[in-house]
Amino acid sequence: MVKRDFACKTCGYISEEEIELCPACNNKKFTTFWQGYVVIIDVEKSQVAKILGITKPGKFALRIG
Ligand SMILES: [Zn+2]
Repeated sequence: MVKRDFACKTCGYISEEEIELCPACNNKKFTTFWQGYVVIIDVEKSQVAKILGITKPGKFALRIG
């Protein structure tokens, strides 16, 4: 059985464990239905982070639901 990571429904932040609060946007709703992801290491220098509106480093899902 494949274990899916959890993605924040608001910003797409991906967590390998079930967490209560998203560290990136403080949202509490997570889903395992997501597709594709980007890894943001340096928020300041990343164009992708700017486009997606990501303000914290981490792994983010590209498509939710
Ligand atoms: Zn979030």
